[in-house]
Amino acid sequence: MSELSELYQEMILDHNKNPRNFGELSEPDYHAEGHNPLCGDEIDLDIKVNDDGVIEDVKYKCEGCAISKASASIMSTILIGKTMEESKKLFEQFHDSVTSDTDAEVDTVNLGKLAVFAGVREFPARIKCASLPWHTLMGALKNKENVVTTE
Ligand code: ZN
Repeated sequence: MSELSELYQEMILDHNKNPRNFGELSEPDYHAEGHNPLCGDEIDLDIKVNDDGVIEDVKYKCEGCAISKASASIMSTILIGKTMEESKKLFEQFHDSVTSDTDAEVDTVNLGKLAVFAGVREFPARIKCASLPWHTLMGALKNKENVVTTE
């Protein structure tokens, strides 16, 4: 097993055991629900953004598999303190990393913690689980109230 896939396993286990930022916001600026019918993952995402466009708080509730939960937890820790523009860029980088060829090099510098999700490329059925929280985020930032599905 490569170093990255070992790290991937460890992070998934850790974030499942101790999900970060789990819960809901009383007055979110952005909210979306996401569904991944293929696996049955569901997420409710709340986001608070300040006047400068910086994400101040992220909370979510999710039901589903270990990968979707870990992805939501890791995403929430990364988003706090980022601008909406930065989070859109992160989404694109994340999306590229999980959908690229399994031999493509992973940009660990730009992706940081998210690089571990490149491990999901080896399990194509899981790509939607890992990307559900991110698609939900994009849906929330676009329309403020939204239902997102990976189908
Ligand atoms: Zn799943």
